Amino acid sequence: SITVCWLRRDLRLEDNAALYHALKQASPVLLLFIFDTTILNQLEDKNDARVTFIHDQLCALNDELVKLGSSLLVKHGTPSAIWTELIQEYPIKTVYANHDYEPYATQRDQSIKELLQQSGIEFITFKDQAIFEKKEVLKNDGSPYTVFTPYKNRWMQHLKDFYLKPYPSERYLQFLYKTTAFKLPTLKAIGFNRATIDFPKKEFERILENYTQHRDFPAINGTSRISIHLRFGTVSIRRLARKAYEANSLAWLNELIWRDFYFMILWHFPYVVSKAFKPAYDHIQWRNNEEEFRRWCEGKTGYPIVDAGMRQLNTTGFMHNRVRMIVASFLTKHLLIDWRWGEAYFAKKLLDFELSSNNGGWQWAASSGCDAAPYFRIFNPDEQTKKFDPQLEYIKKWVPEFRELNYPSPIIEHKFARERCLNVYKQALRK
Ligand code: FAD
Repeated sequence: SITVCWLRRDLRLEDNAALYHALKQASPVLLLFIFDTTILNQLEDKNDARVTFIHDQLCALNDELVKLGSSLLVKHGTPSAIWTELIQEYPIKTVYANHDYEPYATQRDQSIKELLQQSGIEFITFKDQAIFEKKEVLKNDGSPYTVFTPYKNRWMQHLKDFYLKPYPSERYLQFLYKTTAFKLPTLKAIGFNRATIDFPKKEFERILENYTQHRDFPAINGTSRISIHLRFGTVSIRRLARKAYEANSLAWLNELIWRDFYFMILWHFPYVVSKAFKPAYDHIQWRNNEEEFRRWCEGKTGYPIVDAGMRQLNTTGFMHNRVRMIVASFLTKHLLIDWRWGEAYFAKKLLDFELSSNNGGWQWAASSGCDAAPYFRIFNPDEQTKKFDPQLEYIKKWVPEFRELNYPSPIIEHKFARERCLNVYKQALRK
């Protein structure tokens, strides 16, 4: 009999919890990845760069496995149909995988668990993509935290060497299932084209030392850009957190804790996917003007910092965190467009799109989130520019036609938008 290790958002052979545990038991381990049509069918853009990223990574993993006399089995279809076939094809004893906290994924795993159980196959899952997950960091009364700082303090109290230690899966690869190489489906075969985009490298050490001083300035390359690698698990979170801790880069560790925090929030409060964390904020009368939304998407609002951010996103699939906050605040508060519209646009465009952090970031900006900006905090784009892009370097890079005098006039005047927003929010919160 064989064991299957099902990779999903953990596309690496080293320090992989499920793979480690799979390799440590008796039967040979076959690695599997499923291009899930439930997910792929939702992607409108057939040049979606994230599919290229995954495909490239699978090819690289397969090359490594072939050298070891094994291969990566890559399937395309719905997980339930694929598993039904695999059960017929292979004498599977156990299936190993890592936890995934998104509502779709938890439902999928539950139904696959039941399907496998019917054939006497056990489905065992592990924590891998977070340092602490689900109920590991709770308040004294056993309820989940909904405010970041006390969560973080408790997170830090919990931290012991054990949680940062790698699972050295790479040392046990001799226990992989031996096979002739499988043929991987091409991108074309799964309905996608190759995207020509430069993916951020898997480096982060260089930014640790000056992270606090540089992190808020979008013109400086002062953040790691590791987010796409965390998204698809091409790097281990334990490795990053360990390095942050060793380098005493607590500001950077803090950001990794935000990631755990939002995973935890999504897992405990899955309703946030469609609703405001704070229900009163679902009473806001959004204006939802489609023309204004289009101008925001295209980076043509007449606010250069907003336009620069949106153009960086449209061109590279990345936007600096400070600018994400500015454009999100602008859409929800200046234009009074529902945060869900902005969230959906980011979900389409961001290479590092992560449901938990994206939803958390948008609800933070709209003030509807668990530990959000107060509703009366309305970013002034010009003040933000003065503080965080004082030389206008970032703006000039992404909005080359920018000249202070002849730039198109703002889509809306700041003071007017601010007053309007305060009125609309106040009205909603009075209900
Ligand atoms: P660094 O500053 O180097 O941080 C290291 C890592 O910490 C990041 O890669 C990320 O995994 C994590 N991190 C950093 N900031 C946050 C944060 N505020 N919340 C949660 N995790 C964080 N992040 C995503 O990974 N996916 C998203 O879809 C996403 N959408 C966002 C939407 C909005 C409106 C906002 C305001 C923020 C969003 N973020 C999202 C958080 C943050 O902007 C990105 O994680 C960060 O810009 C990624 O760049 P980096 O890897 O250089 O970050």
